[in-house]
Formats: sequence, structure tokens, C-alpha cells
Amino acid sequence: MSVLGVYGVEHASSLVYYGLHSMQHRGQEGCGMVSVDAENRMHRHRGHGLVQEVFNEAKLSALEGNMCLGHLLYTTAGGGRNTDNIEPRLFLHRTGSFAVAHNGNIVNAEQIRNYLESKGSLFQSNTNAELLAHLIKKEAEEPRIFTIMEALDMLEGSFAFVIMTENRLYACRDKHGIRPLAIGKLGDGYVVSSETCAFDVMGAEVLRDVEPGEIVTIDEKGLRSRNYSLTSEHNMCAMEYIYFARPDSDIDGCNVHAFRKESGRRLWHEAPCEADIVVGVPDSSLSAAMGYAEESGIPYEMGLIKNKYIGRTFILPTQSLREKGVKMKLSAIRSIVEGKRIALIDDSIVRGTTSKRIVTMLREAGAAEVHVRIVSPTMKYPCCYGVDTTTQDELISAKHSVEEVCKIIGADSLAFMSVKECLASSNGKCAKMCFACFDGKYPTPMTHDISEINKKK
Ligand code: AMP
Ligand code: SF4
Repeated sequence: MSVLGVYGVEHASSLVYYGLHSMQHRGQEGCGMVSVDAENRMHRHRGHGLVQEVFNEAKLSALEGNMCLGHLLYTTAGGGRNTDNIEPRLFLHRTGSFAVAHNGNIVNAEQIRNYLESKGSLFQSNTNAELLAHLIKKEAEEPRIFTIMEALDMLEGSFAFVIMTENRLYACRDKHGIRPLAIGKLGDGYVVSSETCAFDVMGAEVLRDVEPGEIVTIDEKGLRSRNYSLTSEHNMCAMEYIYFARPDSDIDGCNVHAFRKESGRRLWHEAPCEADIVVGVPDSSLSAAMGYAEESGIPYEMGLIKNKYIGRTFILPTQSLREKGVKMKLSAIRSIVEGKRIALIDDSIVRGTTSKRIVTMLREAGAAEVHVRIVSPTMKYPCCYGVDTTTQDELISAKHSVEEVCKIIGADSLAFMSVKECLASSNGKCAKMCFACFDGKYPTPMTHDISEINKKK
């Protein structure tokens, strides 16, 4: 999922279009935009599919105004295809309309929803955006910022919320610092985005990250900051660096490509192997493969090629679709891999489907040996912060030892990176990160146990 807001720039919806397009890797199920025109009217368009499929010139010109909020939807398993779940959610209220978009997952959503329903709230969707909107006390006497701060402090879990009223944007990040959110400057206006890669295509310059527990108000007075929580800490999702984000994005001051390359270098020291060439699985593992090759002195080769016209397989909502997707996605280059001992670098093993398929493909193309090196630790626990890493039952490393996984995927050897080395790959820029899907240490208070997370998926 991702959020993107523009304040004070002409043709804001066209900029959001470009920005969302650059973050399409974060969600392909659906997308939406809400804009505010000069008369404070809000316009909305949303739909299932890619940014290019949902929006066209006519739709963008109908989204008038110099403020616009956009969202990309990434459906976790069981999420369903409900248009109401596509954000931004738009709320009409006599004190003023507002729109909300969210990235992450609120772990105490069920409790809060039950409470709000018992007080008379009627929900139209499963979105966390709607949950926050109902939680904000609209009748309160105090200025709106305080009612938003109070609402944010009641939420546990991970979030990057952008709230757009008729004349301002509020950018809010969870107090545990799990999901990213950055602020950029564009002319006289501002941009907030889940990833900084969107700033480049929009022509904006990176200002800074929204800090954990911070709410940044953007309006005609510029930027103002408040902390809505007494406590805050940095626990950026390690999977953002390992897999999710684009290499050209900077998260919490650490560039994603630099992180991945460093993790490849470190993996060579943790898990060397005798190989003739290093091959990375495109696209997310290429930076790490470069690092592994550079550090080991083994030549880097393009042994696998990716079909550019297919999206990420994992994001597809069912296992059978994902399996077909893996087959369509990659091919091995025989002239490069034939007769070679290969160090195959991939970012992660979740169910094992991808690694098994790639090892088979390389052997079919004549590879002599395939040594799989994974630039992340063994994934043994489900994520409850909005990343679809599947249920614990389906995680191959939760049920099998490294030796067994090696046999299952058909590799000659297999090794994973340690949590310690993975964290060190930020080169000191991140003192802590969330590694919960690897080590089971969830950074937020948990309102339910792991078996319940499994049932919900
Ligand atoms: P699997 O085939 O289930 O083992 O999936 C592993 C592959 O999926 C890796 O090569 C990653 O590039 C990718 N991947 C890992 N985590 C995720 C995620 N949460 N969403 C989408 N793709 C992922
Ligand atoms: Fe990221 Fe894993 Fe933590 Fe989820 S559990 S937020 S995927 S590191």
C-alpha cells in the first residue's frame, strides 16, 4: 500500500498520477484519488487495477484543484475485491469534508471498531482510514489537530496516514516507526509520500521523513510539527529495505540500493561459496548480488532475465495465480549459466515457490551447481503490520530446517543472513528495525496471538 499527498501545486492530480505510477510496485489491486478545488469541493475517482488503467486524461482533469490525495491498494489474502476498500476514503461532514488514506495495519482495529459500533458508528468498509475517521471527534470544541492526535494515540500497529481537509494536509506516522512516510518540497507546495522515489518523478526535493509519533500539518502557514504520543521509537520494517521499496528510495535516511548492496557484501562474509558466477534474481535482488560479487571477486552475470510486462507475482491474491505468475516472470540465459557453478542471490524465501522454480530453471539451462544465498533471515512468523507474508503454516522456514528447505528447493547449498548482519547493512543509519517476521519480536503491544493472525488471513 502507499499514500501520496500534494499540497499547493497546480494540477495536483496529474502529479499524484505520476507519483503513484512510480510506486506501483507497492500495490496493484486498485487505486484512488481525491482532490480539493478552489471552491473547497472534493472530487474523487477510484477503481480496481493499475494506475494507468484506472485514470486517464479526462478523469485527471475532473480531479480539479491544487490539493490531491492518492492511494494504492495492496490486498492481503482474503481482502476481497470490494471497491469500498479502495482509499482515499471520503467523508462528508457539516464541519467540513475530509479524505483519509492509509498504509499499514492497525492491530487493535477489531477492539476499536467494536467500541465505535457499540456507540452507534456504522462502517462501510474494512479500511483503517474509516476507523480513524470515526475515531476523530468531530463535535469537539478544541481545534481539529488535538482530536486527530487523540485518535492516533489510540491506534496500535503500523500506519502512515495522510488526512486531507478542505485546506490542509496532515501527515502522521505510527509511534513505533514501522511504516515509512517522507515529506518533499515542490515549488511553493509540499508533497508527502510513502516512498521518496515518487518525489523524483514529480520534480520534488526530499525534505525529511515524518518521525515516529509525529503529525505534520501542511497548510498556508507552511509545515508545523507535533508529537501525538509521549513515547516513540524507530522500528522500520526490514522488508521495506529487503524487498518492498524501490532502490532509488531513501527510508529513514538510508538509501535502499545502498542497504541491499551492503547486505550482499556482508552475506559473502557470513555465507561464502565456491562459484564461477553470481546471479541475482531480478529486480529486488540485483543490488545485493552486486555487493556479493564485488566483495567475493566472483564475476556478476545476468543469468536470469525478467519479462518486463508482468507485475510482482506475490501480490496476486491467490496461490495458484502466484504460481502461474512465477513461470511467466523469469527465464534463464543458457549461454551464461551452462556448465557454471552459480551463487544465486535472492532477497527472501517465503513459501519457497520462487526459489524452487528458479533452481529448476537454472539446472534445466545447464547450470552445474546452484548455491542459494538469501539476503534476509529465515522467515518464520506472520506479519501483522500490513505486509502479506502469508500465514505461519505456509512459511516454509517455519516448518523446515535450512537443510530441509535446501532439499525442497533442490539447491546444492542454502544459507540465510542473520538478523544482526541485516541490521548492520544500514551502515549505522538504523539502530533498530522490525524483524518480527524473522525473529517473532513484534515491536507493538499485541492484542491477539499469532494463531489469531493466521485465522484472519
Ligand atoms: P516465495 O515464492 O513464496 O518463497 O516468495 C519469495 C519471493 O517473493 C521472493 O523472491 C521475494 O522477492 C518475494 N517476496 C517476499 N516477500 C514478499 C511480499 N511480502 N510481497 C510480495 N513479494 C514478496
Ligand atoms: Fe516488515 Fe516483517 Fe515487521 Fe511485517 S513483521 S513490518 S514484514 S519486518
